Amino acid sequence: MATISTQFVEELEHYGVDTTMDCFNCGTCAAICPLIYEHFPRRMIRYAQLGARERILEQANDLWHCLHCGLCTLTCPRQADPGELILGLRRLVVAEWRRADHV
Ligand code: SF4
Ligand code: SF4
Repeated sequence: MATISTQFVEELEHYGVDTTMDCFNCGTCAAICPLIYEHFPRRMIRYAQLGARERILEQANDLWHCLHCGLCTLTCPRQADPGELILGLRRLVVAEWRRADHV
């Protein structure tokens, strides 16, 4: 069972993401994303909102599928900036990988 990080939204702010809770899960970003891949990026944003940090790290490779096309950010009705959220999650993953290398 995945554990939940209650501080995850605050942690993400250190990686340049301050719009995590602005998302209301309408799914527009997943519908417009050219990847057409398992509810991406909405799935990752939902994980972030829930503090499902482990789940994001387990599925980290998916973050590198993003093409930076910006369509999700352009069409998000809440200005939640999903494209930047994906970039922030990548920064978190890279930091985790670096930490793990130095253990
Ligand atoms: S990030 Fe925006 S477009 Fe995507 S589900 Fe959330 S509110 Fe909707
Ligand atoms: S920026 Fe990334 S997540 Fe957003 S629509 Fe483009 S490919 Fe999909």
